[in-house]
Amino acid sequence: MTDVLTPSQRHKNMSRIRSKNTKPELKVRRWLWEHGYRYRLNVKDIPGRPDIVMRKYKTVIFVNGCFWHGHVGCDKFVMPKSNVEFWENKIRTNKARDEKNHRILREAGWNVIVVWECELKSSSFEETMAKIVSKIGKNPQKPFEYPTPDSGFAVAEPEAPYSPK
Ligand SMILES: [Zn+2]
Repeated sequence: MTDVLTPSQRHKNMSRIRSKNTKPELKVRRWLWEHGYRYRLNVKDIPGRPDIVMRKYKTVIFVNGCFWHGHVGCDKFVMPKSNVEFWENKIRTNKARDEKNHRILREAGWNVIVVWECELKSSSFEETMAKIVSKIGKNPQKPFEYPTPDSGFAVAEPEAPYSPK
């Protein structure tokens, strides 16, 4: 069935599968949630639409599929045997885009964490999460400060709204 698809059609099919709630991403989210971390998902106006956004720590987490993001030296990154040029080009473009987005984010003061799918297999999962947690802690943001009464703001809300903006 897939043989009759052109590379771009196949890519469309595969990226549809990839784009939402991929299993590795869910695993990371569930673990973080259970350990008390709160986050936003796929915030549109942050470069690269990180899978997980933790504003409190000014941290974003990308959960990367090893194939799509070209994990160098990884077993899961095997170039398909047909349409090699298309795939090489595709992966190269993805990697360049990732690098650019990460740079923009870092320059804007974000802590950028990349987790690879292969690091999430059961045998290394806890270790990987511990690593993530140690990186999250490195960028604590200043707690939200209420305006002082003489600053002219009326303080109505009990806390900073947790929104992507
Ligand atoms: Zn990998």
